Amino acid sequence: MTAEKSIHINTIEELHCTGKFGNFFGVPQQVFDRVWQGLCSPDGNSVVYISMEIGADPDVFHPVMDFLIEQEYTESSDPDIQVLLDKYLNGPRKIPNYSGGLGVLAGDTLKSFADTHIPAMAVSLLYREGYFSQIVDSKVGQIDQATTWSPEETPTLFQLKDPEKPDQPLIITVPFYNEYDHHTQAKAQVWMKMEISEELDYFVPEFLLDYSIPSSPPWVREAGLRLYNATSAIMKANQRRMLGAATIPLMKALGMTLPNTIHLNEQHGVAVTLQLILQRIEKMLGPDFRTRITNDDILAAAEEVAKRIVYTIHTPVKAGHDRFARSLYTGISHDTCRQILNLLASDEESPSEYNFTAFAMRVNRAVNSVSRLHRDVTRKQFPKFADKITAVTNGVHHLTWISETRALVFDNTPALTGWRDDPGVFADTALQEDKAFQKQLHSAWQQDNSILVAYVNNMLAEHRNQMIETWIDPPNYFSRLHETVELQPDVFTVGFARRFSTYKRADLIFDDIPALADILVKNNWRINFVFAGKAHPQDEPGKSVLKLILDNQEELYTRSNGLARLVFIPGYDMKIAKMMVSGVHTWLNSPKRPLEASGTSGMKAAMNGVPNLSVMDGWWVEGYHEGKTGWKFGYEGPINADSLSEDPSTLLYAEDSLSFYELLPKVLTLFYEQPDKYLQMAINNLHLNVPIFNTHRMAAEYVRKYDLTLDSETTARVRGFQKLYQSNVADD
Ligand SMILES: *Cc1c(COP(=O)(O)O)cnc(C)c1O
Repeated sequence: MTAEKSIHINTIEELHCTGKFGNFFGVPQQVFDRVWQGLCSPDGNSVVYISMEIGADPDVFHPVMDFLIEQEYTESSDPDIQVLLDKYLNGPRKIPNYSGGLGVLAGDTLKSFADTHIPAMAVSLLYREGYFSQIVDSKVGQIDQATTWSPEETPTLFQLKDPEKPDQPLIITVPFYNEYDHHTQAKAQVWMKMEISEELDYFVPEFLLDYSIPSSPPWVREAGLRLYNATSAIMKANQRRMLGAATIPLMKALGMTLPNTIHLNEQHGVAVTLQLILQRIEKMLGPDFRTRITNDDILAAAEEVAKRIVYTIHTPVKAGHDRFARSLYTGISHDTCRQILNLLASDEESPSEYNFTAFAMRVNRAVNSVSRLHRDVTRKQFPKFADKITAVTNGVHHLTWISETRALVFDNTPALTGWRDDPGVFADTALQEDKAFQKQLHSAWQQDNSILVAYVNNMLAEHRNQMIETWIDPPNYFSRLHETVELQPDVFTVGFARRFSTYKRADLIFDDIPALADILVKNNWRINFVFAGKAHPQDEPGKSVLKLILDNQEELYTRSNGLARLVFIPGYDMKIAKMMVSGVHTWLNSPKRPLEASGTSGMKAAMNGVPNLSVMDGWWVEGYHEGKTGWKFGYEGPINADSLSEDPSTLLYAEDSLSFYELLPKVLTLFYEQPDKYLQMAINNLHLNVPIFNTHRMAAEYVRKYDLTLDSETTARVRGFQKLYQSNVADD
């Protein structure tokens, strides 16, 4: 299914490679050596990408796996390789180190770096209990459980070994301070995951720090177990430091050169800046610097360090910005560290807190938002830095998110030759005229819809059986009914899946169920709503919205005389996301504008041709073309202080749901009465949106902000992607 590789791999053994830190599998030795040497070369010509979470589950995309399956490689004469191979072919394929959009974006970005050959490495944490596993019960709503998984069993994860003692893991030491201003040490072992290019000729290593080892203090081990553990402020603060403060020690241990660009994917890892400032001051003043440091020294050092930092801010929502009580920091940092934070992390609204968004805003050479509208909002939120805030609109990794069925159609379409390497080819083609293509796309869409519908129906039946066998109350009304009610394929299906934060207003379209039911009954329109998503374990209002979705199922079904069927899929992850974005007929996005800075799931739908039905927020301001790519509804007016409020009374439920009910009949008429026109919308999405909202283009835009010297082939590739779009033009 994949295009022919530019390098030739004749035997499975050729994918086995060895480095100073152990044995790996996935790229030929010469590729491994070239990439590794690049990261260690004294000129530091690469990027360090720091992210609290990385979402890149191999069950959704993995070129090595595809290659093994395609070549029917199942056996090796070398027993060591046989072990790796078995693990690859049969091992668990989830790495639950992400919570949502931020992590999936990180994964997609690193995959595009690899495909484009942009020299980079990433740093994140390895969470032994993942984010959390979501159980859903119709009476209780969401129940959170620890995720159990084993990095040891997971193919694509490799534990780095100590070069001095190759049978032992490599352990890095991260300096910390305890509440008495005393130095302590945290220890971490290191897992490497390689994001490997589609051609198996390049990779970007991710280093995941695993603090769950006996030599780490118990509070460190605990803080590393679960992503975004917010059971206490100190737990949260420590988790952030365990990411940022480990970056420099990790690079030293690996013999890697600190490059001119450190990219902070959100401010979570900003502690790396703190460390760099301290190092710089020590260089300026000598080892006893703490006895005579001045504020001017700190500012001078920060100015130097800022030259390395590129910072991406992802949200205007308060919960996305870390603030910690200054008093908390007296317990976990030394006085010089606090002197730096006093100067650089002060919070203008709240003098008793440190604000890490303010810190990252102050210490960088480039800062960007994740869409044009978000740029304008961020400038309003941070007027002092308005001049340097630009937009790099997010994207998604097209090879990850285009369904297998759609991908086969694209492979079979001569006009789309090369689409895997270059999503820009969709811009050049006249697919509107290609009847064969249209027919195939239509049938692929039907197939993906049947896959989703079958999945849902199986789930409903399974839950029904579980209910009979156990006390568990299943999430969905249809599992509890006596008669069997299923979803039908080819019924207009609306998808919605994202984190359950109140500003995302998952329940907006059910604000007036009688009105909604009335539209359907009058026209005898059938409709499926398929919903999924998790609420952060500490987000009680978010959990209530999820519960409301479950509570609406019965009323919606009965009031619409069975025409409307609302189903919730628990345990949202990348695999479910991929099945949903390709299996529905429209993708719904109903946040309060302008609080959805980007919203990437809608882009995943567009990659499959699926039209969006969305508030004019985030990426949709750029992806919406009237009458062509989908629909808009809801408030579109100017942005003011009220717009940024998340107070329930300012969430505009009545206005925006009314706007939705006015629009819905137009959408359903088109779908049921003019299917050819509906299909044209899909083709428009491919033509207009695939070339823009992909991470190859986004990565190429980031390269403009990086300090890199690229070889001529990579330069040419990057230039090509840069030409596809310029995020940072004014949109008014
Ligand atoms: C894409 C994705 C998200 C992010 O979707 P948004 O539209 O940005 O909210 C969250 N979770 C999963 C599993 C995803 O695949």
